[in-house]
Amino acid sequence: MTSEPEARGTVDTADSAWDNARAQLDEVADLMGLAPGVHEILRSPKRALVVSVPFRMDDGTTRVYEGYRVHHNVTRGPAKGGVRYHPAVNLNEVKALAMWMTWKCAIAGIPFGGAKGGISVDVRSHSRSEIERMTRRYASEILPFIGPERDIPAPDMNTDEEIMSWIMDTYSMNTGFSVPGVVTGKPVAIGGSRGRAGATSRGVMYTIFSTLRALNLSIDEVSVAIQGYGKVGGYAAQLLHDAGCRVLAVSDVDGGLYREKGLDPEAINRYKQDSGTVSGFPGAEPITNDELLELDVDVLVPAAVEGVITVKNADNVRAKILCEGANGPVTFEADKILNERGIHVVPDILANSGGVTVSYFEWVQDIQAYFWSDEEVNDRLRLIMEKSYEEVHELAAEKGLSMRQAATWIGVSRVAEAHQMRGLFP
Ligand code: NAD
Repeated sequence: MTSEPEARGTVDTADSAWDNARAQLDEVADLMGLAPGVHEILRSPKRALVVSVPFRMDDGTTRVYEGYRVHHNVTRGPAKGGVRYHPAVNLNEVKALAMWMTWKCAIAGIPFGGAKGGISVDVRSHSRSEIERMTRRYASEILPFIGPERDIPAPDMNTDEEIMSWIMDTYSMNTGFSVPGVVTGKPVAIGGSRGRAGATSRGVMYTIFSTLRALNLSIDEVSVAIQGYGKVGGYAAQLLHDAGCRVLAVSDVDGGLYREKGLDPEAINRYKQDSGTVSGFPGAEPITNDELLELDVDVLVPAAVEGVITVKNADNVRAKILCEGANGPVTFEADKILNERGIHVVPDILANSGGVTVSYFEWVQDIQAYFWSDEEVNDRLRLIMEKSYEEVHELAAEKGLSMRQAATWIGVSRVAEAHQMRGLFP
């Protein structure tokens, strides 16, 4: 007996990534005539773990945060997904991010299912040693969930290669031998992959180039605005600048910068290294994050948080192309508005899959204990990104779908096919 489906409907709450993720699935399931049983399976995560993470503060007191790890689907292979440290992290957000990971891996043709994890924490209020103790305790709490054949965490917002090293070390200390394949996005010295640090941004760049080719636009002099100057946005600014684009605006949580003639990401990186933010960079006009999203540019790359483009500002977006570096930056209803207005939206599950693609390469290299060069990594990444874009673009044209509907269709159909092949246990 199947459980009663929950009420379905559309939503536009900027804080409801889970509702958006489900609305996207429901819409495509109807369009493609997905078998109702498979649809119901895919509407919920396979398993979700909520953990309490107590750790010692530098002053000797104890702090306790809530942590999560969700496996959305593992039918095509082990679960894969990042770990996020952010005050807005909650179980529903992690469920949404895990679902998107399932489609993302399937679209890229990578043999992983979708996972995600995180801790509801403001990292700015903790020292690095507190973050280390919190990470190690979180890793040990989710230990039964993870492993190279089960679930492989990676960096996401406010987590980095050092944090991956601590998770890998905690796991390895518990098994008694080194297990590099338990995480990706770790330093090259302990089994990380060349090219992983910039892989998501490089993938975003390849996707922008594919889009420009598909729309018969030239790469030269393309103007770009990027929201978020972290692992994805910061590196993307540099790569796009180096490739000949004019990066007119960037921002981080503290605010943004605009320069009509184009910004120099190298100079911004130097400034950020000292100040910890891009905000206040001399030689550029200050702008707000909201203003950045509404700039008249060829390409807009939201690369920070979810739900920044909603029904409230979708009509004001002036970019020709919106390439989602972040996960879920555009709400379900805002997406409709952008599509009606003829803005070419390249969805997160396609555009930012470069990170998980090179994470897959890292996992393969760890298992084989045989490592690749930068060129091998980048070339293979480019081939996968270009192929994925072409497949999605072709399906969108053939069936009259948006790029997001087409991408979700491909992801869902590959997962559904795997379910059909394996059958329903028992
Ligand atoms: P990060 O922590 O390295 O950087 C996040 C950036 O966003 C920072 O510059 C931060 O100041 C800024 N930011 C945070 N809140 C903001 C706000 N409210 N408004 C404007 N800027 C804000 O994180 P990241 O790894 O670059 O991830 C960014 C996004 O990309 C997330 O949605 C993440 O899930 C997604 N993503 C990351 C990867 C990866 O490999 N790191 C892969 C795929 C998708």
